Amino acid sequence: MTVYGLLVDYEWCTGCQSCEVSCKEEHGYPVGKWGIRVLEDGPWEIDDTQANWNKIPVPSDLCDLCANRTAQGRQPICVHHCLADVLQYGPVEELVKRFEEKPKQALFVPQFKPKEARGAFVSKNRAAGKVASFAAVAVEANTDFDIAGHRRPDEEVEADMAVSVILTDSIKTRSEDE
Ligand code: SF4
Ligand code: SF4
Repeated sequence: MTVYGLLVDYEWCTGCQSCEVSCKEEHGYPVGKWGIRVLEDGPWEIDDTQANWNKIPVPSDLCDLCANRTAQGRQPICVHHCLADVLQYGPVEELVKRFEEKPKQALFVPQFKPKEARGAFVSKNRAAGKVASFAAVAVEANTDFDIAGHRRPDEEVEADMAVSVILTDSIKTRSEDE
């Protein structure tokens, strides 16, 4: 069986994250889940003239090597959208030959975990039963603070100051999803 993978020529990765976004859009992954992430190390000085600063895209366990696209003879969407031509898709036995051409390359053979295995996306709050929170708010008008009283007739200001409002409604709010 032919095994396929992604060859990453990370010398030229700009960290633009087009691979991340296009993969996420293509697969409809929810907030916080990705098919590929761009990891970064640096910048830090090696010596007075050189620095280390590497960005390298790493497929996650949600990378299926764009099975739907590649079955139609198309390139994976991350390869298609990488303007720096960092990513190459193909049979592993072909990709490994390119290791001899230059340094700063990495080969990934992702292990896809299908949707049935990873389950539906559920908010951590909901899963923990934190569905709702309650707030009882009581507000009383501050009668010690004269707001712009210098611009209004005394009688009007005094009438306003006499007003005392108490709100006893309970406000139910649903906690936000992550
Ligand atoms: S691999 Fe390509 S698309 Fe992804 S961050 Fe690097 S340059 Fe951008
Ligand atoms: S090959 Fe497809 S699934 Fe894998 S990282 Fe690239 S876009 Fe995502």
